This record gives sequence, C-alpha cells and structure tokens, in this order.
Amino acid sequence: METTILRKARPASGLRPNLGDYAAIYAGFSWQGARYELAGLPGGGLNIAYEALDRHLLRGRGSKLALRWLGKDGTQRDFSYASMARETNRFANVLRSAGIGNGDVVFTLLGRVPELYIAALGALKNGSVVSPLFSVFGPEPVKTRMARGGARAVVTTRHLYERKILPWRDQLPSLAHVFLIDGGEGSLPPGTTSLKAAMAAARNTFQIVKTAPEDIALLHFTSGTTGTPKGAIHVHEAVLAHHMTGKYALDLHPEDVFWCTADPGWVTGTSYGIIAPLTIGATLIVDEADFDAARWYAILSEQKVTVWYTAPTAIRMLMRAGREMVPKGTFDRVRFMASVGEPLNPEAVLWSADALGRPFHDNWWQTETGGIMIANYLSQDIKVGSMGRPLPGIEAAIVERDGEHVRIITEPMKSGELALKAGWPSMFRGYLHEEERYKKNFVDGWYLTGDLAMRDADGYFWFVGRGDDVIKSAGHLIGPFEVESALMEHPAVSEVGVIGVPDPVAGEIVKAFVALNPRYAESEALRKELLGHARLRLGPAVAPKEIVFRKNLPKTRSGKIMRRLLKARELGLPEGDISTLESDEK
Ligand code: AMP
Repeated sequence: METTILRKARPASGLRPNLGDYAAIYAGFSWQGARYELAGLPGGGLNIAYEALDRHLLRGRGSKLALRWLGKDGTQRDFSYASMARETNRFANVLRSAGIGNGDVVFTLLGRVPELYIAALGALKNGSVVSPLFSVFGPEPVKTRMARGGARAVVTTRHLYERKILPWRDQLPSLAHVFLIDGGEGSLPPGTTSLKAAMAAARNTFQIVKTAPEDIALLHFTSGTTGTPKGAIHVHEAVLAHHMTGKYALDLHPEDVFWCTADPGWVTGTSYGIIAPLTIGATLIVDEADFDAARWYAILSEQKVTVWYTAPTAIRMLMRAGREMVPKGTFDRVRFMASVGEPLNPEAVLWSADALGRPFHDNWWQTETGGIMIANYLSQDIKVGSMGRPLPGIEAAIVERDGEHVRIITEPMKSGELALKAGWPSMFRGYLHEEERYKKNFVDGWYLTGDLAMRDADGYFWFVGRGDDVIKSAGHLIGPFEVESALMEHPAVSEVGVIGVPDPVAGEIVKAFVALNPRYAESEALRKELLGHARLRLGPAVAPKEIVFRKNLPKTRSGKIMRRLLKARELGLPEGDISTLESDEK
C-alpha cells in the first residue's frame, strides 16, 4: 500500500506544541507523574468541576472568558470562569435543596444551550452523576436510557419534556424532579419546576462535595450489537485523561479559542466539548445551530478559533459545499484541526491541507475509553489514512482472541482487534447493572475495543472496521437492536433486520429489511408509515432512512437474523465466511 506522508507543519504561532518529541514523552510518561497537573480539591478529593472551573479562580483567571455561546438567532452570551463557577454553584444548590445528592443520576435533555453546561458541571460539584442525552433522540431512546440510569432529575425544555418524557413519566417513579429551562413558574406543566426561578432563589456559593477519584461522575450510554444500550460508567479520576489528552492530542493551551462541534449528548461533546478545554483554561466556543458551511466558516474567523475539533461527516459536507465557499483568511488563526468518530478518508485530509491550508489530524477513541487513545499530533508527520499513534500513558496493540486468552499480533499491517492495556484514568469502570458484559471486554489485562485495526512497522494504527453490527451514521453510534425493537412494535412487522449501508457523506445510513405479517400487503403507503413510525419513536438521528420489504430474512439455525448476511448481500460481497463472523459480537 502506498502511504502519503504530510510533513508536520511549521508552527503558525509562537506557541510551542505540548507534545514536541513524541518518543521521549511517550517513554517518560506516567499517569502518576501527570497528577501534578491537577489541582485536587482543597482538603482532599478530586472533582471534575473544580478542575474545570474553580481552580482557575485561585490563580487569578476568574475574569477570563470560559464559554462563549452563539445562539441560533444571533444572540451571544459570554461566561467568564468566575461566572461559570457561580452559576454552577447555584445549580448545585438547586439540586441540594431538591434533596438530590451524591451518586444520584441527573440527566440533561437539551440542545447546546448554556444551561446544559451549567447543569452538567453543577451536578458534578454536588457529587451527582451526570448523564447527557442527545436532544434529537425520540421518546423511546430517552425512556430506555433514563429508566436504565434510574434518573432522579432531568434538566430539559418544556417542548422536549412534553414530547419525549411526559408520555411515559408515570412509569419512572425514581424521576423526582424535572427542571424546565423555559417558561414562567405560573404556566408550567404539573410536576415540573422552573429552573430560572430555582436558580434565582439559590445561593451562588457552594462547598463542592469531596468526591474521591473513583467516585462515579458520568454515565454515557452507548450501543452494542444486542440488547439495550450500555451505560458506560466514568469516574472523577477521568479528568486526568481529559486534561492530558486535551494537551497532547489537541495541543490545547490556555491561550486557545477552542471549538468542538460535537454535541454533549455524545461522549466527545462532554470530554472535549466541556471538560478538557476548561481544565486547561482555554476559551470554549459553543454553537447552538446545526451544520451550515457558511455559518461555520464565519464562526471560525469571527471567533478567532485556534483549535478546531470536528468529525468526518462535517468535513465531507464542507468538501461538498466546495472550496469556493471558504472565505479568504478563515484559517489564518487556526493552529490545529482534529477529527474523530468515524474513519477519516485520506481525500478529506488532503483536501483540508489544500483547501483550508491545514490538514485534519485524525484521532481514535470510543465511549468506553473516555478520552482520546490514538492520535495524529501537531508536531508529527501525518501518515494520511492512519489514526496515528497511542497517547502517552496508553499502550495499544492488535490482538487475536485465542480461547480464554489473547495473542498479540506483531506482524505489521495484519488485521486484528484493537486492544488497550487496561488501567488509564478515563477507562470506563463498568456497564451499569451489567457486570458480566463489562468483564467480557477484558482479557489478559487488555481491554478489547471491538474495532478491527492494523499496526504498521512504525507503530501507526490503521482502522479496518468494526467487529460488530453497530452502525455509525453521521458520527452517531446506533444499535441495530434498538431500531429493530421500535419497528417490531408496529403491528405490520413480523421480522426485521437493521444494518448500516455506505453513504458518501454520513459514512453509513440505517437501512431496515422488513418481513410483514401475513395480514399486511407490501405497499408504498405502508413503507412510509413504517418510516414515520420509526422517526416518531426514535427521532431522526436514529430512525432508518430506508426500509425495504423482504419475504424472508436470513436466519441462523437458532432463528437469529443474520445482519451480516443482509449486509454482504447488500454490498455484493462474498457470503462465504459470514457465519463464522457472527459469533464475534462485542
Ligand atoms: P462512540 O463510542 O460513539 O464514540 O463510537 C466509537 C466508535 O467510533 C469506535 O469504536 C470506532 O468504531 C469509531 N471511531 C471513532 N474514531 C474513529 C476513527 N478515528 N476512525 C475510525 N473509526 C472511529
């Protein structure tokens, strides 16, 4: 295979890269040694929100801009570190007064609005566990996750509440408090509280709960091949990895204006869209609006963004919009651009280097790892198409399962499962209520990621594909089982298999194969009805984009639908060894 190498860029500003000499820093790094980078709570303990906000106040950085919010309608709201510290104190007091305490799970179901950031960090100060949900989810994924998480409270809007929570709220007795960020006290639906009123009545000082490093801080739901979504548990200690990877993989400095386009409903939008840049003392840009090429270019230049973290789908949409769309000078101030979440095509790297004047640096991680594990670094050449090399403190390998053990594959460019040596600070500490499922991921001290990859002779990793049936569409991880379950609820559906099929922009789109009950006849009207049903239950980001009817779906002898065979047929691939692949679900 011919590899294109992009030579490292000359620094665009006076800032020295945090990771200058990769080999030397990697060799000398230890997580224990890195602990001095964190402040720790005065009097002991470790709390993510303290590291993100209050520690900066003691260093006289209170007036620095922490978060600039850009509203869809052109409104702009600025929050200094001091004002974020105050607002989060207020929210922590709101929770405290409501009787929500240590270990209680507080969900957010919000678009990218300031209240989301305040609620998440405020809840952490209170020792509560934060679980941010993607606001585009339909009522079904919201219900499944909140029920599994044992939600005690949720912060949301009136519209989202009425559409996505109210219909099933009586089935979740643990949900004691619903805080609505909009609407006056008088006109609120029964059983809800006005967040504005509660915040106004709350004190702006708060004694941060002395959480221990291993106390649970975050609950991120992620999808597997089978069963309900998995609640990946992360602890306060994760902040050490957020901080160090923010420094090394994203090259964040306190001087930076950082824009992470990911929604906090997904792990990237929390680890890097909230926590990492704030622990470093940078300025965070938050845009409420969805993708729009002209708007994005305007934000980059008007907000003087210096580090930009986005995803391949967005990059492909920029490519599609065309290089003529790029206003001159847009990227003059941008020092570093990184991409995550799905394979970054080599063309996108080369296009960005050419059309934007800087290449995107691909990096790899997943919900379970809590932070970036493998990356292309500012100070290093890029092997175009590679995900890069492991972060300092991370040992990665390609392995092959061998009965109860794993064998490390040392041959360069031989495909196997990507594995990480267990024990880094942001490693998930469990799947909520699923100890066995959690344990199955660890063999011989390695965490098995479920992704297939290769390692070259220079230690660069190359993504091959997923080892399971999970779908990545526009960067969102979608469990086929969740989609199948929603379709099965419809009386016309007898059997259903859901797969991802390639799409030039979104990477993959969700496609469902449906066998009908005998009483129903195939028709365009029924197909549309099923699409509508799925959209309503699941929301547009998760629902299938395509539904096709089949008389029969391929099944294993035990009656399980063979998604991989559906996929192989769809893609015109040989069907030979499909059945052997079927067993390697993560
Ligand atoms: P999530 O847990 O939703 O963040 O999704 C994680 C999954 O996204 C990984 O297991 C990979 O399958 C995929 N992924 C993340 N980053 C990359 C990347 N740089 N290249 C290819 N796939 C990626």
